[in-house]
Amino acid sequence: MTRIPRRSFLESCAAAGTALGASPFLKGWSPMSKQRHVVVVGAGAFGGWTALHLLRRGVRVTLVDAWGPGNSRASSGGETRVIRGTYGPRGIYTHLTARALQLWKEHERRWHLKLYHPIGVLWLVESDEAYEKAALPLLKEAGLAFEELSGAETARRYPQINCERVRWSIFEKDGGYLTARRACAAVLEGFLAEGGEYRQLAVELGARLAEGELRGIKLSDGATLAADAFVFACGPWLGRLFPDVIGDRVRATRQEVFFFGTPPGDQRFTEQALPVWADHGRGFIYGIPGNEWRGFKVADDTRGPPFDPTTGERLPTPEGLKAAREYLAFRFPGLKGAPLVEARVCQYENSPDEHFIIDRHPAATNVWVVGGGSGHGFKHGPAVGELVAKLVLGGEAAPPEFRLSRFEPGARPGG
Ligand SMILES: Cc1cc2nc3c(=O)[nH]c(=O)nc-3n(C[C@H](O)[C@H](O)[C@H](O)COP(=O)(O)OP(=O)(O)OC[C@H]3O[C@@H](n4cnc5c(N)ncnc54)[C@H](O)[C@@H]3O)c2cc1C
Repeated sequence: MTRIPRRSFLESCAAAGTALGASPFLKGWSPMSKQRHVVVVGAGAFGGWTALHLLRRGVRVTLVDAWGPGNSRASSGGETRVIRGTYGPRGIYTHLTARALQLWKEHERRWHLKLYHPIGVLWLVESDEAYEKAALPLLKEAGLAFEELSGAETARRYPQINCERVRWSIFEKDGGYLTARRACAAVLEGFLAEGGEYRQLAVELGARLAEGELRGIKLSDGATLAADAFVFACGPWLGRLFPDVIGDRVRATRQEVFFFGTPPGDQRFTEQALPVWADHGRGFIYGIPGNEWRGFKVADDTRGPPFDPTTGERLPTPEGLKAAREYLAFRFPGLKGAPLVEARVCQYENSPDEHFIIDRHPAATNVWVVGGGSGHGFKHGPAVGELVAKLVLGGEAAPPEFRLSRFEPGARPGG
């Protein structure tokens, strides 16, 4: 395991209250001037897309990852992720989804790859409908197509779902799922094809800080990598790299995902017959039918216990499996007693308010921290990467919801 110092030079600077203004990295910069170098640490959904977008804006980019894009420890690992625009009242994510959707489609065409499966997302609404009701005008505003279905209509359309307690539903036509690990690999391939440089090494923060800037980082092969700017998109590891500024503001929780085998030749539980479903009744359970022949995916969005993404063993618990089975038997009676064909243990990297963290480091003008995907970041990767590239090279501030200042005492929490 890579040893990361408890308190880096940057952290000490932040603790000492170093005040920094606009980034000198950006002053007078234009794509025509001497080519600047940006290092992106982390090749997951956030870092990979950031590296690609930075490259397209004319800078030299080195992407570094300890274990590779979408690796089995990363939050972006595994086969599939849901893409949906329903976000309750949090319109910023509905709009981000709409932009990400454009970019996913554009890159599928560019790379001749299937990454986005537009099979729709069905939101099953029981008694508490505030979340879904708040989402409806925002879906409309963002131009995401959807239908509202009554409980009876939902049951008629999807007889394989037991619609008991379902009062109504939203069917998001543009929603569906993305192939996660494959997409991370595709982003790296695209990045390399367009001239990016990739190093598979672990990173430590070096003590090369001068005049409020980070000059270089240490790599696990003993080398130092210098650059004009650095983006740290280290998922659940972000708090370890920045113990003071991030620390527990990104907390990794253990999440279990189960894949159940469907009856032989039965099409009812495949993506041809069923959309992604999100059951917002007691808690929030969701799943993906079929998903590339890997079985019927079921996952509980409830935050699990704390988890170490480096050393944690990834075996599901009997209790988690039992709960998933019981749920399945109730909501999808045709899958009662279905065998488990695969399981995964992953981790969410949660911020306290589940908003992303995208901001400049308070003690170093040329350092950006990007993370806090909080169990919903993957779909937004292309749009987050675009935003971060713009912020790093344009010098603007991040949207207030994503800024570190929201954690300061007295700051209004994000909506
Ligand atoms: C079970 C599960 C289900 C989810 N479902 C959905 C969903 O349906 N829809 C959705 O949109 N989102 C979903 N998410 C959330 C989403 O997957 C994450 O928010 C997103 O993938 C986070 O990406 P990231 O790039 O921030 O982190 P990561 O993917 O973890 O990437 C960070 C990278 O940094 C590297 N790294 C870390 N430290 C160092 C270092 N010191 N040196 C070098 N490299 C380093 C790691 O190797 C890693 O590759 C889910 C997450 C989980 C776990």
